[in-house]
Amino acid sequence: MAFSRTQTVLERVFAADVPDRADIEYVLRLEDDRQVQVLFEFADRVRREYVGDGVLLRGIIEFSNFCRNTCAYCGLRAANHRLSRYRLTSEEIVAVAENIRLAGVKTIVLQSGEEDNLDADGLARIIEEIKSQLDVAVTLSVGERDREEYAMWKEAGADRYLLKIETSDPALYAELHPGMSFTNRIRCLGDLAELGYQTGSGNLIGLPGQSVESLIDDIVFFKKGDFDMISVSPFIPHAATPLAGVRAGDLQTTLKMIALTRIVSRNAHIPASTAVGSLSGGDARGRALAVGANVVMPNFTPMAFKPLYEIYPGKAGNDKMPDESMVHIERMVAALGRRIDLDKGHSLKSRSVLAPTMIRSQ
Ligand code: SF4
Repeated sequence: MAFSRTQTVLERVFAADVPDRADIEYVLRLEDDRQVQVLFEFADRVRREYVGDGVLLRGIIEFSNFCRNTCAYCGLRAANHRLSRYRLTSEEIVAVAENIRLAGVKTIVLQSGEEDNLDADGLARIIEEIKSQLDVAVTLSVGERDREEYAMWKEAGADRYLLKIETSDPALYAELHPGMSFTNRIRCLGDLAELGYQTGSGNLIGLPGQSVESLIDDIVFFKKGDFDMISVSPFIPHAATPLAGVRAGDLQTTLKMIALTRIVSRNAHIPASTAVGSLSGGDARGRALAVGANVVMPNFTPMAFKPLYEIYPGKAGNDKMPDESMVHIERMVAALGRRIDLDKGHSLKSRSVLAPTMIRSQ
């Protein structure tokens, strides 16, 4: 009977140190709605048991859209000369951080493109100021940097770092990231874990050339990396990129990948990403929360700059003031019978010294 087979496979995936590739493939290829529902309910049970019913909030400040890279899927790529570039001042960044804290949110995510001329000392001073004035956790997401810079920002008080792998398939990675190196990305993730950051990875679903094998690799990568945070988002094509006109990733595969990620990672923090919310016309973040996600990331970037941080078009909530977004999120969470958790939401992993080694060995 298909239901019991699905249940048995899911139990094996959940229990395995490294899940069997055939089991992951079986789950990814599920098509019958009732069997997919078995997957979603299994993931939701794991979420409830390992991270609880609270939905954590992370307030994002997209403080600069300058980027030196040319990732094939991203509207911020250096080759997009039509995009007006901006960078918030230190005072503006700290003022937005204060607004986030006033809204009750206790994680500030400082995100930017991978700037060539990033002022690393200046960023360290901003982190110090935010950490000394506000009772918050700070997450950085500013790309591949030197170990020394990572160390300086950690010393300044940064708690977490997001550096998605996007795809763990080295060949596909090379195709989509001209001039970048998969090896260096892994080096960065290893450095971050060794330096004591709570480290986040993640992928994009529906990239052209991405096979089921690639998605299986991603799940194995997440399991072996033992990441504190994992973001699974759909690819959405941008008109000013080489992937303009390519079909977006589909919601169902994204939800299956979120569910599998919850099952293998157990207590990682997993966002219902804005990209998931942007995919379906309606806001599908509630669906992501129902299949394993436990984090939402309201965007506090000043309204004048939000349209310029266009990694992909049609970003959900770009037209909403932060307080409107917060009300929307509260309603969405309440409709699921869940509650907003205003804790800092640090990692639930009992940190293993093995993690950096595991990352580097991938
Ligand atoms: S994905 Fe990040 S590193 Fe790549 S082009 Fe966009 S902002 Fe730059």
